[in-house]
Amino acid sequence: MIRSAIVVGGGIGGVAIAAALAKAGTAVTLYERGAELREVGAGIFVKRNGLEVLGALGCRDELVSKGTWIRRGELWDSHARKFVDRHLPDASVIVVKRADLHNTLVNSATRYGVRVVTGRTVRGVAPDGVVRLEADDIDRADLVVGADGVGSAVRESLGLTVSVKATGNGSWRVLVPRLESDPAAKVIEFWRGHRRVLITQSGDDATYVCASCRDDDAAAASAEFDRRVWGNHFPEFRELIDRIDPMLTTRRQHTKVRVSSWRSGVVAILGDAVHGQPPNLGQGAGCAIANAGALAAILQKRGDVPSSLQEWEATQRKLTEDIQSFSNKYDDIAHAWPLAFESLRTAAVTAMGTFKPTRMRWARLSQGLSHLQP
Ligand SMILES: Cc1cc2nc3c(=O)[nH]c(=O)nc-3n(C[C@H](O)[C@H](O)[C@H](O)COP(=O)(O)OP(=O)(O)OC[C@H]3O[C@@H](n4cnc5c(N)ncnc54)[C@H](O)[C@@H]3O)c2cc1C
Repeated sequence: MIRSAIVVGGGIGGVAIAAALAKAGTAVTLYERGAELREVGAGIFVKRNGLEVLGALGCRDELVSKGTWIRRGELWDSHARKFVDRHLPDASVIVVKRADLHNTLVNSATRYGVRVVTGRTVRGVAPDGVVRLEADDIDRADLVVGADGVGSAVRESLGLTVSVKATGNGSWRVLVPRLESDPAAKVIEFWRGHRRVLITQSGDDATYVCASCRDDDAAAASAEFDRRVWGNHFPEFRELIDRIDPMLTTRRQHTKVRVSSWRSGVVAILGDAVHGQPPNLGQGAGCAIANAGALAAILQKRGDVPSSLQEWEATQRKLTEDIQSFSNKYDDIAHAWPLAFESLRTAAVTAMGTFKPTRMRWARLSQGLSHLQP
């Protein structure tokens, strides 16, 4: 196994790869620019690809004890009619609080001996593994992984960026104290016009709400979450929307990242830095965790960094980009479909969910699985 690694970024992707490398015996230093390792946001879906790696890291049970297994996935049209209703296989999709997923991975990284350095910003990395920190400090390692998010300085310094683009849409997300009457153990995605709300259970005490709209929808994408606007648009869930605390609700633009390569020399890029995508399939973090697990396993098998990175990109990139591309299309269907033909949208998505090849592809990509995996 390689002796030393530096990970840039302490989000979900960074702590996952740090834990996986350290478990395999590598001395790992993780640099995070924030004052502490912390995850912002609300709930998060973790699916089969992510759960498998958490299992290998020995922290799946810790996470599962805090979440809710989701049994059904429903899509509702503008008449509040269910037009897709999917049964989800046992133990395939769980919703947890973001902080719980992040803390579980941080605990695992700490257990395996990762050295965490917070309050340090990485300026850039060279293909030979030399890392430039602020104040002209230098560090180096056999392997460097840039998991520094959509605006990745690592990716930029290696010249790997093809494009970083906002899709023109974005999502509010928030956890609401849970009532018995809230949807349980299922996810409802309710489409009306170019606005969408997703509602699901996250543990015994919380309901996770994610509300998406176009950036140019001034009322719905206002500076602060507007309960009146969203409640009037989705009166079926007005009571739940009225319970949302606007101060705890944050909106993030959907961004897609394209790169020329996932690696340069002994440096790899991982997570949103390499495959930033709209959150429609609930797979951004899942891909990051799955790719982290795959990278650590290949390095352990081969020992040599450049050839391991080559095999890693060759085996993981296609699936990740298929997921990203599906999620991009979903964003367009939800937010750019001509509203005069809204019922056609329902018909088209219903057809996707009924026609076996597209249904299977949708289901597999949502789980982060290729057609080759069981
Ligand atoms: C509304 C919404 C819902 C989502 N839902 C899901 C879901 O259900 N399931 C799912 O799998 N994914 C989901 N995602 C996607 C998921 O949140 C992201 O893909 C994932 O969090 C990305 O993790 P990351 O570690 O790659 O990047 P980030 O979380 O962006 O972490 C990057 C870290 O690097 C640090 N950093 C940045 N630059 C530097 C630097 N120069 N030096 C040092 N440190 C640096 C940052 O401070 C940060 O801590 C969702 C996203 C959104 C917006």
